[in-house]
Amino acid sequence: MTKWAMIIDIDKCIACYACFNACKDEFWDNIYPPYSASIKKRGQTFIRLLKRERGKFPYVKVSYMPILCMQCEDPKCMKVAKNGAVYKRDDGIVIIDPVKAVGQKEIVNACPYGAVSWNDEKKLPQKCTLCVHRIEAGKNPRCVDVCPSGALIFGDLDDEKSEVSKKLRDGLAEPFHPEYGTKPKVFYINLHKMTKYFIAGSVAFEDTDDCAEGVEVRLTNLKTNEFKVAFTDFFGSFEFDGLEPHTEYLVELKYPGYQTKEIKVKLEEKDVYLGYIFLKRDY
Ligand code: SF4
Ligand code: SF4
Repeated sequence: MTKWAMIIDIDKCIACYACFNACKDEFWDNIYPPYSASIKKRGQTFIRLLKRERGKFPYVKVSYMPILCMQCEDPKCMKVAKNGAVYKRDDGIVIIDPVKAVGQKEIVNACPYGAVSWNDEKKLPQKCTLCVHRIEAGKNPRCVDVCPSGALIFGDLDDEKSEVSKKLRDGLAEPFHPEYGTKPKVFYINLHKMTKYFIAGSVAFEDTDDCAEGVEVRLTNLKTNEFKVAFTDFFGSFEFDGLEPHTEYLVELKYPGYQTKEIKVKLEEKDVYLGYIFLKRDY
């Protein structure tokens, strides 16, 4: 058996929109019966990019997250469809039948990921088919082929040697919103860059004004007492990412010959950049 899946590495997405444009080119003014009808020229797309700005000047980061149909194992869109207008193939690809689904707008609203768009010209709900017409011709989905940074990985979950299987086995990839209960087959690497928070800072020696490289930074969760340790880089910077919000943390900075510094941080739903932290000589 084949079970198609996709893994998207958020760290590698540079928001070039090549996938978005290629998808538009593939599906606008083209029909692939029995899987899809043409989409509208404007105002309709199967891929969208979520963007997240993190931190504050001078420590600002941006993450991008492509969202498309998650090819769910247990699709909510299928549950509301009448007359078998949505079905799942043996290889796991979920298809909205472009003939049977005409007029069934409830399919749009059923998807918790907002992956179904409404074609008001055709009165048709439409979504990504994972380029099933290309897969049947032995090709990759078009977005996977055009992505210049290798952010999109496509493959067979039932092939243990495939890259998607290896990445899942290594625990690197996870579904978005697993609590929706639809068991997606699109997974994300570095999902925390969209869903969690960081505490970062820059350390310098007060007596010399130099960037403090190699300072031991310990971050302790004051609720659980769990801790992580990092060391400042060449620029004196440190960062702990993937942190849970609504939690109090203690940041401790230690360097031989300098006084230990402690900073308490109450992390809410916002990344925290502590700015420049100066270490005093331990005379
Ligand atoms: S992501 Fe939405 S449209 Fe795609 S299979 Fe799941 S429920 Fe259906
Ligand atoms: S083509 Fe790749 S890098 Fe460009 S927006 Fe799409 S996923 Fe991101």
